[in-house]
Amino acid sequence: MNTIELHKDTSFDVNKLREQFPILNQSVNGKPLIYLDNAATNQKPLSVINSISNYYETINSNVHRGLHTLSERATEAYEASREKVREFINAKSANEIVFVRGTTEGVNLVASSFGKANINEGDEIIVTEMEHHSNLVPWQNLCREKNAVLKYIPVNDEGELILDDLENLITEKTKIISVVYISNTLGTINPVKKIIETAHRHNVPVMLDAAQAAPHLKIDVQNLDCDFLAFSGHKIYGPTGIGILYAKEKFLEDMPPYQFGGEMIKSVSYEQTVYNELPYKFEAGTPNISGAISLGAAIDFINSTGLEVIADQEKKLFDHAMNRMKEIGGIRFIGTAKEKASVISFLLEDIHPYDTGSILDNLGIAVRTGFHCTQPLIEQRFKLPGTVRASFAVYNTTEEIDIFAEGLKKVKQMLA
Ligand code: PMP
Repeated sequence: MNTIELHKDTSFDVNKLREQFPILNQSVNGKPLIYLDNAATNQKPLSVINSISNYYETINSNVHRGLHTLSERATEAYEASREKVREFINAKSANEIVFVRGTTEGVNLVASSFGKANINEGDEIIVTEMEHHSNLVPWQNLCREKNAVLKYIPVNDEGELILDDLENLITEKTKIISVVYISNTLGTINPVKKIIETAHRHNVPVMLDAAQAAPHLKIDVQNLDCDFLAFSGHKIYGPTGIGILYAKEKFLEDMPPYQFGGEMIKSVSYEQTVYNELPYKFEAGTPNISGAISLGAAIDFINSTGLEVIADQEKKLFDHAMNRMKEIGGIRFIGTAKEKASVISFLLEDIHPYDTGSILDNLGIAVRTGFHCTQPLIEQRFKLPGTVRASFAVYNTTEEIDIFAEGLKKVKQMLA
C-alpha cells in the first residue's frame, strides 16, 4: 500500500458535491427541488456540461474524416472516450466498444444484427419477467419476424428471479439469453454471473441490460464473461443520446452491420462495398461526437468520486428512506429482494400512484409513477395499476428523504 492510499480521505461531503450540480439548486412549485427520479435519468455535473460546450467552442469537426487539425483533435477526443469506456467496464479491447444512442439502441442492434444472422424458425430466446420494454420489445419483434419463441425466467413475490428451472428453460433451440442486470422497477440486482455460467454450459451467449447497473456497481465484462452488454450515458451522469454496446470481438466480427452508410465502409464501388473494421462497422454516419466525449467526462466524474463512495452514499440513503417510510405505515413495497439497488417502488394505502406523484410534485419532489417501462411486470405479474418509484443518486441527502417522508404523510392525510 502506498502513502496516498494510506492517507486517503474517506470523508464524503455531499453538500460540496452538490455544488457541481447547478440544476439541483432551484425551486419547483415554490419549494426546493428534491430530485428522486434518478433511475429515469440522473443530473449532470458541471464537468460534463462544460465538456459539451467546450467541444463546440474548440474542436467541433467530423471524426475519422479530415486530415485537418480540428478533425484530428475531435477524433482523438472521441477515441480517448472509447478507451475510457473500455477501462470503465474492463473490456479486452476498444474494438469491442460501439457507440450507440443508449441501451435501447444497443439491444436493438444485437436483436437486429445477431438476430438476422442466428435466429431461425422455432429457435428460442430467453428474457425475464422483469425486463424494461427496451430489452423485451426488440426480442418480441424478432420472434414475430422469425417465428421464434420468447421464453421468460419467472419472478417471485419478492421480485427475485426464480432460477431453479433455468437449466430446463434452456434447450438446444436457445440462441441467446438477455437479462436486466439491475431492475429499474424493483431494484433487484440479478445474479447475472450465475446465469452466464449456466448459459455458457449450454453454449448460449448472454446479453446484459446494464442501464441501471452502470451507475451503481463496478462492471467487469471479462470477469462476468457476458457476451453483450449495453448501458446509457444519461444514467451515469452523462448526456442523453449516447450509450455503448459492448460485445465480444468474435460476435462483432461475425455479425452483419446494423445500419449502412458512411463511416462503416472501407471501400465502395458501384458494384459492392467492403465494410470497415471494428468497431466502425457498427457506427454508420456521423456519430454523436460531443455526446461520446462528454460520456468520457461522466466516467471521469464517477472515477474521481469513486464508485465505492457512490454505492455507500446510496446505501445510506436507501436504508434511511426505508426506515422513514416504514414509520409512516400503510406502504406496500414492490420489490424486496435481498440484493437491491437504491430504488424503492411502492404503493401508499390504496391511493393511485398518479395522485401520490402529483401531490409530491406540488411539494417540489420529483418521483416517477406508472409502469416504469415494465408494463407486463407491473400489470401481469404483480397485478397493479402502477407504482410510485423513488430512486437515489450520490447527490441526494438524508434531509431530502426526511422531506419526502413528510410529503408522503401529507398525501396519506389528504387521500387515504
Ligand atoms: N433498461 C433499463 C433497466 C432501464 O432502466 C432503461 C431506462 N429507463 C433502459 C433499459 C432504456 O434506456 P434508454 O432509454 O436510455 O435507452
